[in-house]
Amino acid sequence: MALDSKIPEGPLEDKWTKHKNSINLVNPANKRHIDVIIVGTGLAGGSAAATLAELGYNVKAFCFQDSPRRAHSIAAQGGINAAKNYQGDGDSTYRLFYDTVKGGDYRSREANVHRLAEVSTNIIDQCVAQGVPFARDYGGLLDNRSFGGVLVSRTFYAKGQTGQQLLLGAYSAMNRQIGRGKIKMYNRHEMLDVVIVDGKARGIITRNLVTGEIERHSGHAVVLGTGGYGNVFYLSTNAMGSNVTAAWKAHKRGAYFANPCYTQIHPTCIPVSGDHQSKLTLMSESLRNDGRIWVPKKLEDAKAIQNRELNPTDLTEDQRDYFLERRYPAFGNLVPRDVASRAAKERCDEGFGVNKTGEAVFLDFASAIIRYGKEQAHVKGLNEDDDALIQTLGKQVVKSKYGNLFQMYEKIVDENPYETPMMIYPAVHYTMGGVWVDYNLQTTIPGLYAIGEANFSDHGANRLGASALMQGLADGYFVLPYTIGNYLSDDIRTGPIPTDTVEFEEAEAKVTSEINHFVNNKGSKPVDYFHKRLGKIMWNKCGMARNEKELKEAIEEISALREEFYKDVLVPGTADEFNEELAKAGRVADFLELGELFAKDALVREESAGGHFREEHQTPEGEAQRRKEFQFVSAWEYKGEPKDAELHKEALVYENIEVKERSYK
Ligand SMILES: Cc1cc2nc3c(=O)[nH]c(=O)nc-3n(C[C@H](O)[C@H](O)[C@H](O)COP(=O)(O)OP(=O)(O)OC[C@H]3O[C@@H](n4cnc5c(N)ncnc54)[C@H](O)[C@@H]3O)c2cc1C
Repeated sequence: MALDSKIPEGPLEDKWTKHKNSINLVNPANKRHIDVIIVGTGLAGGSAAATLAELGYNVKAFCFQDSPRRAHSIAAQGGINAAKNYQGDGDSTYRLFYDTVKGGDYRSREANVHRLAEVSTNIIDQCVAQGVPFARDYGGLLDNRSFGGVLVSRTFYAKGQTGQQLLLGAYSAMNRQIGRGKIKMYNRHEMLDVVIVDGKARGIITRNLVTGEIERHSGHAVVLGTGGYGNVFYLSTNAMGSNVTAAWKAHKRGAYFANPCYTQIHPTCIPVSGDHQSKLTLMSESLRNDGRIWVPKKLEDAKAIQNRELNPTDLTEDQRDYFLERRYPAFGNLVPRDVASRAAKERCDEGFGVNKTGEAVFLDFASAIIRYGKEQAHVKGLNEDDDALIQTLGKQVVKSKYGNLFQMYEKIVDENPYETPMMIYPAVHYTMGGVWVDYNLQTTIPGLYAIGEANFSDHGANRLGASALMQGLADGYFVLPYTIGNYLSDDIRTGPIPTDTVEFEEAEAKVTSEINHFVNNKGSKPVDYFHKRLGKIMWNKCGMARNEKELKEAIEEISALREEFYKDVLVPGTADEFNEELAKAGRVADFLELGELFAKDALVREESAGGHFREEHQTPEGEAQRRKEFQFVSAWEYKGEPKDAELHKEALVYENIEVKERSYK
């Protein structure tokens, strides 16, 4: 099937407005006859469910947690971008568009990103109206902070809990509709297949995770807001439950999967502590506004710190290497995430790491504490030469900005980051690949939509922060509610979709057979054993640096591991009870297929773009090297085994932006 991205004609800045004005609408009375299934109630799915129900559609919403409030979106710390230009520092819709395309290493669609920048301002207004407590400055106006890779302050935030506050806003909006009976909420339900009738998505098969019951649900359209797949690496900053199952099942039914190899590696995470760990913790990027990243200049100092024979605070300024400030003076510690991550890895690979495994660098707030302390002393007319006073005042400011993050760090690492620098190391954080969608957010299956992190469309090879929340909420509040209407306008006379049909029967039988396989397998190894091994292959061979030889090895190893998994996995318990091991088995089965496609995609992409760093394609200074021939989206069609997947290319055209060499110096 040829890919049609359905980008509207006309000048970039008019495309969205004209499109909205020209697509079909469904009148309010007819909306009452239309059912929409929304799988996932994080920020993307939750905002879409609330908005579609408010418009009058009958919404059935599903999540695997016990409440929409527990979606992984709750973990987002740093903030959400919007081109409000409240700081008067030169921001505009065009600049947000430009920064996002550049931040995506010129691998995203111009039209989508421009639309995203346009609606970004509506998101802030919408959320403020809902009561989201964004940070405010002394005068009561909304505050902003800076994120890496851009030169303006456009990130709106709520302490280190932006995702949580935004989710509470979306959840309240949903709850109103649940109360009105316009949303029927199915908590603890996992979607295990999508049902296609006459070529259109018309329903899903779910498993009730509490009782084990397999259920059929029908609708006139199905929307996936099921989040990202970073957990294919086993260790990531994602919530433990985040998975690819819904997107992968859709892929197996005909939805193309785009750019699976694009992963964002976040530079500021708490380093891995050992083999029994199942989760990594993010330290928000906002910390790079004030924290300075360094390692010792001398190898012997690094060794002494690793062995705990030397305290980092004993090293003088000239004994420290602030390597980001040294290599990238213009952006310093606020270089994009991929640049900061690779630079940290480079220092650690050279032996300058600062924890016992040698895989950590320092993030140090000592300078910020003194700077803020002096400012406060000045403001209050106090003695600016009193070191103890400066420390106290400075720590108070740092606490007010990042208190919860510092507390989290201290609880996990058992060191006080106000006194001794934090240790950080890059970790898998966000996946830009996902289900391929056109401009209307429709997948290659008519009637099946994908929004938020589950789709691929707006980020390219993204190295920026605070853009994922923006995209999820743009999709859910402001884009899908228009575009889905155009599709549903053909369904006003269709009537309810029956579930007693051969298509539903076939899909249900398939789901049941896979579940039965797992519970009856009685192998010898638990699910996590395989997931950890998959994660190691992914991190070592498809992680921060990739090369042809290792990617080929990864493909073979993942394929062999998958075979072993099906033969030897042990799932205790039964299918008709609450059985977390069974749920995990299904998710890991899908990760084992996705992982192979991921490696295949990374192998095909013979260039470096964003977090995808191909060692064969780097500049003499070790920077990533893009290649013009790879200015396309890889969209993979399912053909049986991942090795047989067929590649379709969507060419990316830049007419409104000049594709420039990357430079953060
Ligand atoms: C630690 C951390 C911090 C972050 N901080 C920021 C930040 O500061 N700014 C920013 O812009 N981005 C940030 N991100 C990224 C951002 O949080 C996510 O991209 C975004 O929240 C994803 O939202 P979503 O609605 O697409 O998916 P999610 O919030 O992951 O929601 C997925 C939903 O799908 C449901 N689901 C999944 N599979 C199934 C299934 N098979 N059946 C039924 N339901 C299913 C889940 O139950 C859930 O309701 C951060 C990410 C992490 C990991």
